[in-house]
Amino acid sequence: MDQIAYTHAREILDSRGNPTVEVDVKLDNGSFGRASVPSGASTGVHEVMELRDRDKTRFKGKGVEGAVSNVNTKIDAAIKGMSVLDQQGIDQKLIELDGTPDKSNIGANAILGVSLAVAHAGANFTEQPVYRFLCKDHPVLLPSPMFNILNGGKHAQGSTDFQEFMVMPVGISSYKEAFRAGAEIYQSLKEVLISGGYSINIGDEGGFAPSLESNEKAIEAIVSAIEIAGYKPGRECFIGLDVAASELFIEGKYSLPIQGVTFESEELVEYYSNLCSRYPILSIEDGMAEDDWEGWQMLMNKVGDKIQLVGDDLYTTNVDRINMGIVRHASNSVLIKLNQIGTLTETLNAIRVTQEAGWTAVISHRSGETEDTTIADLSVATNAGQIKAGAPARSERVGKYNRLLRIEEELGSQGIYAGPTLLSSMLGI
Ligand code: PGA
Ligand code: ZN
Repeated sequence: MDQIAYTHAREILDSRGNPTVEVDVKLDNGSFGRASVPSGASTGVHEVMELRDRDKTRFKGKGVEGAVSNVNTKIDAAIKGMSVLDQQGIDQKLIELDGTPDKSNIGANAILGVSLAVAHAGANFTEQPVYRFLCKDHPVLLPSPMFNILNGGKHAQGSTDFQEFMVMPVGISSYKEAFRAGAEIYQSLKEVLISGGYSINIGDEGGFAPSLESNEKAIEAIVSAIEIAGYKPGRECFIGLDVAASELFIEGKYSLPIQGVTFESEELVEYYSNLCSRYPILSIEDGMAEDDWEGWQMLMNKVGDKIQLVGDDLYTTNVDRINMGIVRHASNSVLIKLNQIGTLTETLNAIRVTQEAGWTAVISHRSGETEDTTIADLSVATNAGQIKAGAPARSERVGKYNRLLRIEEELGSQGIYAGPTLLSSMLGI
């Protein structure tokens, strides 16, 4: 009864209006699972490959009919009859069927869609919510959200050099109240930008994308917004940055065109250290480029004892690269993106290796998203403690945050908001 009857994919649109893969899995007993696949814009070079058609007559070459057809023929035939409860076996089968290290043959988008739809079907079959189905122990932690309320870099042309300015309501008592804080600060930031004469157009992740003259201006606008909304910066709400520095790394130097400067690695580390001493910054993601290991080590030595340093492009959710980072003490946190590695099993391994090293794992969306909310369940199932899903606005972002509200309600008194523990472990507050 737990056997897979069929797997069926279709081409749908993501939040940027580009095609992506959605997969349905149906079991012999009628149980059902569905999942869809996100897509990045500032992708790391070490990520697995999403298969796109490159047929310029459809969707400007971005169609995914090839990936869809791979699901409907090769994958469907390969996993038909397997037990939906054998997630590891199914993921291994998908990896072997593809046969390449970067999953470029069948396509990482085809593979991930199936891997996640299988998990949903398994949850449906066992009559459990996905977060409970995926969980080995008891789920307890509601993650602290990182709300990306100001967008720059590749997600908002003409805005700041840094890609993401996030508000982290860690010093708040519950997930529900942290969500409210994020939403209120987002609305306050809108007022701050309007009164400063700036645009309130938005970027790919739902944050505002004003043409500010410096990264400092963006941070100052957010600090004002936190205060106007009635929260205490540096106590209740902090700032997280995603620099996406690989995008700025040109011929061995970091070029910040809007700021009008070019930095050597050491100088960039000094710049961050200075920012951290002036503003309530708690987390910096991809402060250095994806292969600048020495730069990462310098940054760790400088601020790693008080700031969360998150590797995104550096690790691409790949256990081998995470292990390289652990040996080199290159960071103290890993960003986890399912589609950087391509299967649920490999993602769960990446989270386990990260947590066993005593590091934090931040479960993340991509800039191109869908209505799929699996990452919310994943964040609770793994007790990750942090999630990054964009602004508290736009349905594809809010869907993940709203899902967590429902999980918080279901867990009741068993659910603990991770924020305060995170804060005390990092700052001793
Ligand atoms: P991406 O950006 O989804 O466009 O890669 C998100 C991030 O860098 O964290
Ligand atoms: Zn990033």
